[in-house]
Amino acid sequence: MNQLRRERDSLYKDIHSMVLSTAQLMCKNLKDEDVEDFIEKLEKDEILVKYCKQEESWKSAFQYIDSQNVPVEDECMVYEAIQKQPKNPPEHCHFYTQFREKMDGILHPEDTDLLETQCTINLIDPISKSRMKDPVKNVICNHTYDRYSIAEIMKRKSATGIRCPYQGCNNRELFKLQDLVPDEITKQALLSAEADSD
Ligand SMILES: [Zn+2]
Repeated sequence: MNQLRRERDSLYKDIHSMVLSTAQLMCKNLKDEDVEDFIEKLEKDEILVKYCKQEESWKSAFQYIDSQNVPVEDECMVYEAIQKQPKNPPEHCHFYTQFREKMDGILHPEDTDLLETQCTINLIDPISKSRMKDPVKNVICNHTYDRYSIAEIMKRKSATGIRCPYQGCNNRELFKLQDLVPDEITKQALLSAEADSD
């Protein structure tokens, strides 16, 4: 019995996050200028309000069932009875606040941390000044270059190692090929920048 209720509660949480991530995913696939309309439609067409009413019903039903220890065979009756009761305004619903917060984050991404990180990722190779294809990171100073460009410079001085060619780098230490590792974060940023421009 308790196991069943735990499963019910976790299923209920899953539904929540699925609704939120579906809305986010749909926004992601829209053009920027259409996102606002889409969110307004979700709210105006009362999809959000309907969902919140449903949510309030579930919540009250769960509370009643759990506090009164309603037998499983009577649970459906409780759901039906509670569906008919008047509901709190949707603004009081926890999901309503959550949904608004997520959508605000999409409409005003400059306020979110995620985009700040994305903005600081440099996609331009400091050596060739063109967009990197295969970014590698210097583990000594953390500067990133395109593998091809840095290999070209190294070819000439491979025995002694070279200084970081990044302009303004304070690192005086010479480095060799083995000090370079693939820069996975920049690689991901390049891939998503490519996907955006398609
Ligand atoms: Zn450097």
